[in-house]
Formats: sequence, C-alpha cells, structure tokens
Amino acid sequence: MSRQTQAIIHADALLHNFKVLAALAPSSQSMAVVKADAYGHGAVNVARILQHVSSRFAVAIIEEAIALRDAGITAPIVVLEGAHQIKECKMAFQNNCILVMHCEEQLEWLDKCPKDKRPHVWLKVDSGMHRLGFSLSDIETVAAKYRHLLSDQTVIVTHFACADDLDNSFTDSQFTAFKQVADKLGFPTSVANSPATVNWPESRNAWNRLGVGVYGGAVSTSQKCDTEVYPTMTLRSSVIAVRDIAPGEGVGYGQTWVADKPSKIATVGIGYADGYPRHCKNGTPVMVRGKRAFLAGRVSMDMITIDVTHIDNVAVGDVVELWGQNVSIQEVATCADTIDYELMTRISQRVPRIVK
Ligand code: PLP
Repeated sequence: MSRQTQAIIHADALLHNFKVLAALAPSSQSMAVVKADAYGHGAVNVARILQHVSSRFAVAIIEEAIALRDAGITAPIVVLEGAHQIKECKMAFQNNCILVMHCEEQLEWLDKCPKDKRPHVWLKVDSGMHRLGFSLSDIETVAAKYRHLLSDQTVIVTHFACADDLDNSFTDSQFTAFKQVADKLGFPTSVANSPATVNWPESRNAWNRLGVGVYGGAVSTSQKCDTEVYPTMTLRSSVIAVRDIAPGEGVGYGQTWVADKPSKIATVGIGYADGYPRHCKNGTPVMVRGKRAFLAGRVSMDMITIDVTHIDNVAVGDVVELWGQNVSIQEVATCADTIDYELMTRISQRVPRIVK
C-alpha cells in the first residue's frame, strides 16, 4: 500500500478565484503571485492553469522565474525582490523578467549592464510597511537620477501592511501618502495585493498582485467578505492504524492527550515533516468518513493521532482530509496559532501535488 498523503490542487477553483478577484478591478490588470512554489501549490502547475487568464506572474526571486521558464511558461514575470547581485540583472534580461528595485545599489548594478541588455524595472516605494523600498521623500530624486534606466514599462509599486483589516485606517494613510508622490512621478502604479483588491477599491490600479485570494485564502480578518473564493488545495492522507485506548492511557509524545473513557484512536500518515503544523493543538479538526474527528496527541514527524471514538467502522485505508472543502485551512491555522499562508507554503516536497 503506497502512502496516501497528497495535496490535491483544484484547477477549477484556482481559475474561479483568479477570475472573480480580477473582475473586481476591470480597469486594472491583475497578475497571479506564484512565489514560494505558488503558495505551496506547485508554481509550474499553477502557472500552467492560469496562463490564459493572468498575463503576467509575480515571484519573489529570480530562481523562481527561471524554474517557470524551464517549464515553458512564457508570460512576463515580475520579480518582487529585484536583484540580489549584478548577475541577476543579466538573468532577468535573458528571461524576460521585470525587476522590482528597492535600493540604489540595485539600480547601480542595472546601470552597469549594456544599454540594450537591461531588463525593465519597477520601482518600489516604502509607504509605511518599512520592509523594502525607497522612502517617500527620496523617490522623486531617485527616479530623476536613474531616469535613463526607466521606460514606458516602469511601474511604481508599494505594499500595504494591514490591507486584510478593514477596521485599520493605516491602509488609508499609506495609500494617500503613496498616491501624492506617485502622481507626481507620472508612472502607472501597482499597489493592491488580494486583500486590498477586495477591501480597498481605490487601491486597485494599473497592476494588482493577487496572491492568497487566488489560493482560496482569507482576504479579510475583520469581516466576512462578499467575494467568494474556494479552497484550492485539499490536503489528505489515510488511516494507517486503529487501536483501542483504555481510560487513563495517554497518546503520543509527552502524552498530552489522555483518554477519559474507552476510546478509539486512528493513526494517520501525515506529520510535521509533510508540513502539517506541529503547533496544531489537541482538538484540531480533520474529516474522516464524512464526520469531524479531532487531533488527540502531539503531531509527530510522520504521523498524527485522531480520536475517532464517535465514528463507526473507521479502518486502515480510510481517507482523512486535513484541510480543504470540509475543514477550512483557516480553521486549522487558528488551531496552530498561525495563518493560512504559512500552512500552504509549508507543505513539504514529500507530499505529491496532484492537479485535478
Ligand atoms: N505583493 C507583494 C510585494 C507581496 O509580498 C505579496 C505577498 O506576500 C503579494 C503581493 C501578494 O499578497 P497576497 O498574498 O496577500 O495577495
């Protein structure tokens, strides 16, 4: 019996989610963000599925872009961290990539490239996230100094810190400050990630960068969102053993779960080495035989144990859904004190991605 642990990738849901988010901004262009192996879904899989609806893709680093090129993806690719060394400018040119530059050192590298071999660049502005980008007060000077490196393809980019939180007015102040400066520069702009595309309509502009929403993730922490996105990944495994546990007996490392009555425990072939979070607490839901069962005992490297006392006839080979249509990834993320982004991106290479 082969191990049944798989991440099923739902092509229809990916297409639906991208289209429904892009439709919110009909006068913008939208690109799918496929960095971090398309949030764990497999970047090549996702790019192949979305290439007819997403005219560009965004990745974090040039190596991710080259992996897409090697798989035959031809759409322009925006590299969100720009270049980390001069040779990456050359690689970007050769691979039809656009570099998002955030500091002068990167622009100096570009300046050293032969004029006819320079990739297009976008300029990143730090409007309050304080992670990457030219400051609001420097960007005009920088754009003037490096005017010869910019082109009609140049876009001014910023990124929001709190776009998923509708009650947080910081997004408004970030956007207002950015817009004042960007208007003076006169280039198109790229501001909205998927939470902003949904929650902050005024920030939808030339290019929206759609990440987690495309993968069915939560785009709003503060209220229910009207834009319905569907889960794009079902993480599933199967029962590999079932045993009876007497009252008072503990289960798993540290014996953190102790039976308070005669109980049935199923062992499932997935663990933290597969990317199922070790931080999931006792009581984290899974789905088996159409019913919810709950984590009982610590997550091990290759296995978890679930309490199936209330479910009849659980047997070796039964399919267990860890998250997907029936158990939301957000619910599991909450049980592990984290966010859906982290859960998706941490599914390890040991887990085959099966596109359906
Ligand atoms: N743009 C940048 C610069 C990012 O770093 C990210 C993701 O982290 C995105 C866009 C996509 O954001 P989201 O996944 O929230 O849609």
